[in-house]
Amino acid sequence: MKSYRKELWFETKSRREYINITPDVEECINESGIKEGMVLVNAMHITASVFINDDESGLLHDFEVWLEKLAPEKPHSQYKHNGFEDNADGHLKRSIMGREVVVAVTEGQLDFGPWEQIFYGEFDGKRRKRVLVKIIGE
Ligand code: ZN
Repeated sequence: MKSYRKELWFETKSRREYINITPDVEECINESGIKEGMVLVNAMHITASVFINDDESGLLHDFEVWLEKLAPEKPHSQYKHNGFEDNADGHLKRSIMGREVVVAVTEGQLDFGPWEQIFYGEFDGKRRKRVLVKIIGE
């Protein structure tokens, strides 16, 4: 069995962003040479997510509005976590959107359903953060 590991780095310009990282993950699969196996993609920070959904701008806007309803950023004082930090909403949003995705690799490609794309969801950005890509297989 082969294994492959890579860290993808991101520094977003705004506090919250949704970035389609499917091409980066495909590049990792190509680099790994693995044709049959599994790829794990996870955020390495507790205020960021990796999730799978449709790359449609209306939907990404809907996610933003929905997450702000569930865990509004402001006022920062509404959260007990916000003593030395102001990112409690980011922790909550990350829990809703999830830490990682696992996708089958078949014939050297992501074995997706229709419209599936992998996203990095940033909820406390403007600093360098990482995503781990781990691929195992043959
Ligand atoms: Zn925090």
